Amino acid sequence: MALQDTMLKQLSEAAGVSGAEDEVRQIIYDAIKDHVTDLRVDTMGNILAVKKGTGKSLLKVMLAAHMDEVGFLVTGVDGEGLIKFASVGGIDPRILPALRVHVGKDKTPGVITWKPIHLSWKEKEVKKPDSFRIDIGAENKGAAEGKAKLGDRVTFASETIALTDTIVRGKAFDDRAGCAELIEIIKGDPFPFDLLIAFTVQEEIGLRGAKVAAQALNPDVAIVLETTAAHEVPQDEDEPDITTVTKLGHGPVITYMDKGSIAHPGLRKLFVRVAEQLGIPHQFRSPQYAGGTDAGAIQTSLAGVATLTFSLPCRYLHSPYLILDLNDFQNAVKLLRATLMQLSPSDLER
Ligand SMILES: [Zn+2]
Repeated sequence: MALQDTMLKQLSEAAGVSGAEDEVRQIIYDAIKDHVTDLRVDTMGNILAVKKGTGKSLLKVMLAAHMDEVGFLVTGVDGEGLIKFASVGGIDPRILPALRVHVGKDKTPGVITWKPIHLSWKEKEVKKPDSFRIDIGAENKGAAEGKAKLGDRVTFASETIALTDTIVRGKAFDDRAGCAELIEIIKGDPFPFDLLIAFTVQEEIGLRGAKVAAQALNPDVAIVLETTAAHEVPQDEDEPDITTVTKLGHGPVITYMDKGSIAHPGLRKLFVRVAEQLGIPHQFRSPQYAGGTDAGAIQTSLAGVATLTFSLPCRYLHSPYLILDLNDFQNAVKLLRATLMQLSPSDLER
């Protein structure tokens, strides 16, 4: 499959910093509207929908993927016409200097300021995030204010390109890869049960959309489609060993535990059993180096929901240049589809 034809390219190049997911929402809405019922956008901006099943099972199964990405928010303009900003979601300030960005709805190109080495050879520390500005080449304050209003979002400026036949690079695969996976599932064969669908907002700033989506959909089971850190880069001896996190090309990732949730054991066993039956590559996520996902919010909603986070290994998360293997993507869709086909109430017994 050529990258140009994939939903992944379109989705990851769209702007969707937390709380301003509109562009992503529109793409997804149009992509699924002919394949679902009960399609709606809730007050927070989540897309909720139902994919009708064959009616053989009454289980209420929810799939969720978050639409938002980390980025920045305009907080003002300096005297010189440079734009002040704050981070939205977890971004390491060490990646900020000299970064290309897009400002506001018009995607005005800009670059984050830095002091060239000619002027900074004595500086050792990385500057504090609030000392950076975005330079859009504005002549003065008024010109900058015309292009960057308070609250405008700023995204990484990063095209999605193929590095090889299967390895792709782009921004926002976290979690547009999960969104693309969910769209594939929606377009495929029906399951024995109605599938409850949530494309959520504001995951990166505290799992906020998922909490509301779970309350609205009231599922028994929820699978959260995510990306998770892969890291295969040589490291210094004094660093903790992080080579045991996931690897690109080794298949989708079944999470045992992360910062916000522990996978339901029955669900976890089912995924592994189906993967082994069908010979689909898969891997497990090391519990010790983990962020949180929407599963944390969904698991503890209502009277409790059996959850599992199902991820794609991805390098350089929360940067402009994430790297993903399309083979992992295809294997994730295959394993998820087959697992859902076999899911029954007995898998959820305690
Ligand atoms: Zn994510």
